[in-house]
Amino acid sequence: MAESILVGLLLIGGASVSYQKRWLTAGGAAGMVVLGAAIDWAFGLSGLLIIFLFFVAANLISNGGRSAETRTVVQVFANGGAPLLAACANLAVGGPYWSAAFITAVASASADTWASEIGVKFGGRPYHIGLRRRVAPGLSGAATLRGSIAGLFGAALIGFFGAFLLHRDHLALFFVAGTVFTAVGWLGHWLDTLLGAFLQARYQCRACGVLTDDRRHCEMATAKVHGYQWMTNHTVNALSNIGAGVLGAIASVWLSS
Ligand SMILES: [Zn+2]
Repeated sequence: MAESILVGLLLIGGASVSYQKRWLTAGGAAGMVVLGAAIDWAFGLSGLLIIFLFFVAANLISNGGRSAETRTVVQVFANGGAPLLAACANLAVGGPYWSAAFITAVASASADTWASEIGVKFGGRPYHIGLRRRVAPGLSGAATLRGSIAGLFGAALIGFFGAFLLHRDHLALFFVAGTVFTAVGWLGHWLDTLLGAFLQARYQCRACGVLTDDRRHCEMATAKVHGYQWMTNHTVNALSNIGAGVLGAIASVWLSS
């Protein structure tokens, strides 16, 4: 009880600071409190530590600790939605595999964040797997070698930390679970790239002709040239994290059999 109150106060405090520093919008801050409370309720302090590690590392990778962009509630749930679903499933039906689903969903979000941030900054022109050619950095559905290697490290950070929290008293199990969580998280990054290439809405600038994820370019509306309007980058992120979570749950059933 005392711990729940302390966690609640920390979450509200953290959300207030994030709002004041313009890291989160008011909706984003409220989303963070809901997400944190559900994760604490379902998985306890271990769950909070995992999601906290993801957010801190993702922020450092994105802008070296300086926050350039104020995140909205949609952005919070693009990465936090799949972990939240795993938390709700654990509360509703229970079962040991939901922890694995939670860890792999966060590992997938981490892999994707690291891959896109490092890819855009250091990867050069990425190769688009749908168009089968190199495109401008930042277009969904494209990958770079450096970005994908960074994504593997992003998945490993969460995968091995999660495995440590679950199996710190059993070295072999820790190593196997960490490897599996990392692999599944990294697969999530590739699922993200696939969905981004083949289903996500892709637009073309009417002025400069560049392909983009955005509905505006060169200060005018772009034209949709591929994919579904509703399949935005956030939808793709959420779906690939859910996919990784489902794979993680299946993998943990297989691991424990
Ligand atoms: Zn343009």
